[in-house]
Amino acid sequence: LIELRHVEKHFGDLHVLRDINLQVRRGEVLVVVGPSGSGKSTLCRTINRLETIDSGEILVEGALLPQEGKELTAMRAELGMVFQSFNLFSHMSVLDNVTLGPIQVLGMKKDEAERRAMELLERVGVAEQAKKVPAQLSGGQQQRAAIARSLAMRPKAMMFDEPTSALDPEMINEVLDVMVGLARQGMTMVVVTHEMSFARRVADRVVFMSEGQIVEEAAPADFFDHPATGRAREFLDSIK
Ligand code: ATP
Ligand code: MG
Repeated sequence: LIELRHVEKHFGDLHVLRDINLQVRRGEVLVVVGPSGSGKSTLCRTINRLETIDSGEILVEGALLPQEGKELTAMRAELGMVFQSFNLFSHMSVLDNVTLGPIQVLGMKKDEAERRAMELLERVGVAEQAKKVPAQLSGGQQQRAAIARSLAMRPKAMMFDEPTSALDPEMINEVLDVMVGLARQGMTMVVVTHEMSFARRVADRVVFMSEGQIVEEAAPADFFDHPATGRAREFLDSIK
């Protein structure tokens, strides 16, 4: 579904992505782990074209990601993105946050968008908060609303960049549970996370990044129990 070929990215002198080759198959859950600064967020953002790349190719369903314009907007909508910091519009109700994209980008009628939004908010367990503004919700509720907002665009795949790392411990599981549900329903997912129990349980594959490179790519049991490289062993020891 998503393929990266020889992707390179610099920020000035900093070489943040080095010859990244990666395939995400339909229905697959790929978990990306690695030390701080290894390029995980940049990888997610380049897949969504929130960052440009210096060279290489990114294909979605075999087609090159468009560089700009309407096609890019449409393609971005197909790749949902959930960030560490919820990124809901603070002056709008939760419901309006979820209906905005479908109405403005997909051209959906307001009542239909609202009906679907309520179904999605129900699915992530925050339907009762629909009329509130984000600040009136807990962090876990805001993040679940952000997931509903992404789902409202009917994405082909979802990217999560440390979706639980800004949350209090007691709220982490309510967000992870929603993500587990999505994975079970066959959503294609790329998840950057430090939640290793989630990775072990849900990932089809784990990618370990270090200094802008993919250093290991393995089934979760293999990666966590028998990391192949010293760098991965060090990383796993450091987060225990
Ligand atoms: P973390 O686990 O801390 O989130 P990460 O693996 O997501 O780290 P990135 O955010 O992708 O790492 O950053 C990779 C490197 O690129 C870091 O050294 C970072 O400082 C640098 N970087 C990220 N964004 C920019 C930017 N917009 N301009 C310049 N440098 C950047
Ligand atoms: Mg990051």
